[in-house]
Amino acid sequence: MPPPRTRGTALRRRLAELRGPGVPAKALDARALAALAANPGCSRRAILDGAGVNKTALASALGSPSAFGQSQFALTRGNAFEAKVKADGGTELLRLVHERLDPHAEPPAGASVPDLTAVGPEGRTARTALALREATAAAGTWTLLDHPMLALDVAGSPAFLEPDAVVVHPDGSWTVVEIKSFPMLDGSADPAKVGAAARQAAVYVLALERVAARLDPAPPVRHRVLLVCPKDFSNLPTASAVDVRKQRAVTHRQLARLTRIEDIADALPEGTCFSPELPADRLLAAVESVPATYAPECLSACELAFHCRGRSREAGAVTTLGRPVRAELGALTTVEDVLAAARGEAGDPDDPAVAALRRAARLRGEALEAMCR
Ligand code: SF4
Repeated sequence: MPPPRTRGTALRRRLAELRGPGVPAKALDARALAALAANPGCSRRAILDGAGVNKTALASALGSPSAFGQSQFALTRGNAFEAKVKADGGTELLRLVHERLDPHAEPPAGASVPDLTAVGPEGRTARTALALREATAAAGTWTLLDHPMLALDVAGSPAFLEPDAVVVHPDGSWTVVEIKSFPMLDGSADPAKVGAAARQAAVYVLALERVAARLDPAPPVRHRVLLVCPKDFSNLPTASAVDVRKQRAVTHRQLARLTRIEDIADALPEGTCFSPELPADRLLAAVESVPATYAPECLSACELAFHCRGRSREAGAVTTLGRPVRAELGALTTVEDVLAAARGEAGDPDDPAVAALRRAARLRGEALEAMCR
């Protein structure tokens, strides 16, 4: 087997070929990494993200443009809310961190907010690491890092991530802060949106842990993050502590899997390329050569969702009905198989899914018969 450095270079070259000549790699951000973790079984997404393919451009070239992403209005509203939360040296933000996560510490009066400006993402990452080290060494004080930059190795190349804020507590521990513009009504928010925010925050926790591991002793990175949202229908900030241990573990596993995109790349036909400049039929063949695991959740997480949903529907795949239904149906993977099993024309009668379908079909027949009498 070639040495790791040679393998890394060969993989980078292969991934560049998959993007197409002269096509720059699209950087992965925390939102993309979090979405990857939400569908860990999808090889298609893993290879496209690993190779830095622009999935928005790819979806348009395939004729199924993505409706995924935030509107300009939502972005502007989100930025205005974040500015309000961080106003006055982050006084309100730090008050919320103290109240929700560290009520026994000294109240955060006169916290330090270091300047993190530097040239390029690498420079900002180094500046952030230095600020974290200095803040941790200054025991007994609160520090707010506004838009720090963190790096996470993904499939051999660094992904640069920018959390809304990181707070260093007086005991030297670090907390990730996520600021979102969706409302928290009576103390709770839309679970799907909280779940997405938790997955995103878990990516930042992992990246922070890499920074902490380089310090001696390594400061603890808290696994309860602070989610800040507008209170009810106002523009006033409120916050909730969110435990991201599960999301962190899933993302960690998924990142380890991403480093095996080499295997997915090796299984692709020679000459496979995802450049949006290619004719649609070649592009379609390239995309379809990678197995996908479509689920309705893709609609809110992946730019290729409309394309993959269309192909799943054409194939009559039961995945379009959702993961819980898919799991119940066991070996029956198409709607045609399910109907044939229910009619007693196919399927193993000892299979619990087949037996349940036949029973349901029999009950339905009896009910219809009773109605017609
Ligand atoms: S939309 Fe397609 S490529 Fe994206 S995660 Fe779902 S199945 Fe995978």
